[in-house]
Amino acid sequence: MLPIVALVGRPNVGKSTLFNALTRGRDALVHDQPGVTRDRHYGVCRLQPERPFVLVDTGGIAGEHTHLETGGLAGATARQARAAAEEADLVLFVVDGREGPSAVDDELMRWLRKRDRPVLLVVNKTDGIDSRAAMAEFARFGFDEALPVSSAHRQGLDVLLDDVLERLPGGRATDEPEEDPDRIRVAFIGRPNVGKSTLVNRLLGEERMIASEVPGTTRDAIAVDLDRDGRRYRLIDTAGIRRRARVEEAVEKFSVIKTLQAIEQCQVAVVLLDASEGVTDQDASVLGAVLDAGRALVLAVNKWDGLSGYQREQTEALLSRKMVFVQWAEAVRISALHGSGLRELFRAIHRAHGSATREFGTSEVTRALEAAYTASPPPAVRGHVPKLRFAHPGGSNPPTFVVFGSRLRTLSESYRRYLENFFRKRFKLVGTPVRFVFKETE
Ligand code: GDP
Ligand code: GDP
Repeated sequence: MLPIVALVGRPNVGKSTLFNALTRGRDALVHDQPGVTRDRHYGVCRLQPERPFVLVDTGGIAGEHTHLETGGLAGATARQARAAAEEADLVLFVVDGREGPSAVDDELMRWLRKRDRPVLLVVNKTDGIDSRAAMAEFARFGFDEALPVSSAHRQGLDVLLDDVLERLPGGRATDEPEEDPDRIRVAFIGRPNVGKSTLVNRLLGEERMIASEVPGTTRDAIAVDLDRDGRRYRLIDTAGIRRRARVEEAVEKFSVIKTLQAIEQCQVAVVLLDASEGVTDQDASVLGAVLDAGRALVLAVNKWDGLSGYQREQTEALLSRKMVFVQWAEAVRISALHGSGLRELFRAIHRAHGSATREFGTSEVTRALEAAYTASPPPAVRGHVPKLRFAHPGGSNPPTFVVFGSRLRTLSESYRRYLENFFRKRFKLVGTPVRFVFKETE
């Protein structure tokens, strides 16, 4: 399971700036595609790709006696924030190094002391000031160690990251279901009410309970094995399965953290959409999380049964307009209620899995690069043409290609997209993101 780190602090200390610095990573290209959105409070930090963790910005959480008790949306958000802080493996208590400690900081400190969570003090906004003096002001909080950072200028983040990782539960092995290489790990995800549990129930029910819960799964990680049409699957931690297993009775509701964890553990993410409701912001942020994780993706447009012919046309048009950023993913129309479209859905899952895990040889990759270059060399930038020399396979799931050449930094975004599309077509890659890494040679 992905460990959970919560940012706690009073408003304006720079939590969301820190959240962005840690979750946006360095690949702005992947991140800033139009149409994709990101959840502003939940994200995955992948700055150390081998050890991702969930980062939760608890937002305006401001101590026990303030708005935590209020009703309405603000109250619900605050309660979720508090819950996140309480289940976190580590809390980063963020304070403002310019303003020094405030009464709210003291209140938060008392609140944190009562919880039994490890806490690390992060003194933010130390750019351009004497950070020692700033840190000294917080000495009375009694932390053995505090870290000065400047989130806005990305200073101190490497040290912070090391420190965080040191305190998190190590490897990801122990409480995870044993991996079975013969099974495709699939997660059915999506916002509330799109039909996840209806779908999972139908899949498990109709297969006469060949499904069995995977031993070794904990309260948090539930997996179910499913054999279908002679193929083997492991359904990973979805709200649908959890509800079915009645593990979390009443508290069962949409959990962003569980969704992020399911994405992390799966090979193919099936994102359910409600055909009658189009694509909502919440759908787009679930998709954003799948893209960030580099997972293979199948779109399951559910509740297709309830639509008239006209509505179907409208929905098709809307999807093709709104889904340009995942054009490579197959969209399958299904009805979880009636069980229609499921065979096609599983075919798409297979195609996506096959593409995501395909192995490449160096020569076929270099030949593809040469063919792409010959068909359309990159345009000159200020009199110089970027040179693409050769390419290596750089790993699978998602398929990654390492391209060597010179002046690659000047390659335009449209040329990068051209390369991606060329490779997709040539290798018939569907349902998976494709990544390129560019390296300079001399
Ligand atoms: P939050 O309310 O805790 O989420 O705080 P924000 O991330 O919204 O930041 C509040 C303000 O502090 C914004 O104007 C930021 O630009 C500024 N800020 C955040 N981090 C830094 C920093 O490292 N240095 C400086 N000088 N300003 C920062
Ligand atoms: P979840 O929150 O994503 O697990 O969604 P549920 O499986 O609980 O479904 C939410 C509602 O949508 C329920 O009332 C289901 O009966 C209904 N529903 C689910 N799938 C379909 C479908 O394919 N067609 C129609 N018409 N309704 C569906």
